Amino acid sequence: MAQTAPETTRTEPVPADPATLAATVAAGHRLTAKESLAVLATPDADTLRLVTEAGRLRRRHFGNTVKVNYLVNLKSGLCPEDCTYCSQRLGSTAEILKYSWLKPEEAVEQAKLGIGGGASRVCLVASGRGPSNRDVERVATMTDQLKAEHPEVEVCACLGLLKDNQADQLREAGVDAYNHNLNTAESKYEEITTTHTYADRVDTVERAKGAGLSPCSGLIVGMGESDEQVVEAVMALRDLGSDSIPVNFLMPFEGTPLAGTWELTPLRCLRILAMVRLACPDTELRLAGGREMHLRGLQATALEVANSLFLGDYLTSEGQTAEQDLAMIADAGFRVFGAGEAPGAGEASGQAAPWAAVSGDPAEAPCGAPAHAAASCGCCSSETSVETSAETSADAGAGTSADAGADIPAGTLEPRIRRRGAGTADAPNA
Ligand code: SF4
Repeated sequence: MAQTAPETTRTEPVPADPATLAATVAAGHRLTAKESLAVLATPDADTLRLVTEAGRLRRRHFGNTVKVNYLVNLKSGLCPEDCTYCSQRLGSTAEILKYSWLKPEEAVEQAKLGIGGGASRVCLVASGRGPSNRDVERVATMTDQLKAEHPEVEVCACLGLLKDNQADQLREAGVDAYNHNLNTAESKYEEITTTHTYADRVDTVERAKGAGLSPCSGLIVGMGESDEQVVEAVMALRDLGSDSIPVNFLMPFEGTPLAGTWELTPLRCLRILAMVRLACPDTELRLAGGREMHLRGLQATALEVANSLFLGDYLTSEGQTAEQDLAMIADAGFRVFGAGEAPGAGEASGQAAPWAAVSGDPAEAPCGAPAHAAASCGCCSSETSVETSAETSADAGAGTSADAGADIPAGTLEPRIRRRGAGTADAPNA
């Protein structure tokens, strides 16, 4: 249970020293915009110390748990909206999977595979401006079927802009949460989307909240926003009362207007995550799309401030394997939220490999290699662009946003289009 520190009325500036700032936040101080900017300006050399100090807040509220979420893309592509970052947008020539609504049983089948991988929340996502009433009924049917078998699992719907009564219908159907990201600052919004407004997005989050759905709303960073705009967006999410904040790192798909946009370094990603943690100390903070290509070798370090991630693949692109995700969590001394306290859970050594539940053999990785060798055998991860990216992290981590990607061979970071799981005949990555 998250503890909420009492609010204070303190308004004087707080020093940007990470330890002092984290302690002050722990005592109830609300991070100011000025302090947030100072956090984002932390030098590279001090960023890991910032993470350590912000991580004290994460440990205070979430211990060593990592919440695992699983995405099911119910309907892919074919969207009439023009969000510049999105591979499913109007006019996108990205060669993503395009399909209309999965049948309820297909969606439930996909969701169950994620639950088997440790997910305690399933995110049912459909492209489009917003759902029709028939679409809401489809999701209600899926939720019903899923909860009949897995009543313990949370269902989050992400269907776009909601109209009158749709949030209530979803809540009545047993949906627990609704995701609708603000994505960026209001002052940036018109640059990234013209077919709907920032106010439309806020309205939908408010409708979800009003119906009793847990609001999930987050960010995409790396789209050319300034530090001030990152802070503006995070302050807006805090004011909106988002219960969970997914932070996406732009995946610049070929065939979209933001193709070729590489602005992030692993250390900048960490600073952004640490700032969100300091601003919203007891809010679920999720590593979302793009974490592999932008955090690279610092993904596990990011879990020191983030307490949640998506398992395996994303909506239209492939992530690192689910086995790698679970190994990363365990190797860094965390445990999957809701998985119980298995003997040895969270210990650095002497525990069953995290993929034991998947393969049935704690001594064997999914590829068949001995567990102790799997982290380096390559065949579990070489199908993704992620491992190649991780190999470059030492160099890239020392850069700044101005030279992001400069040391990284062209083509090693590109999003890898999803060709498995929902909408295909192939098994998903879970
Ligand atoms: S983000 Fe959503 S609304 Fe925007 S183009 Fe993509 S699928 Fe459509």
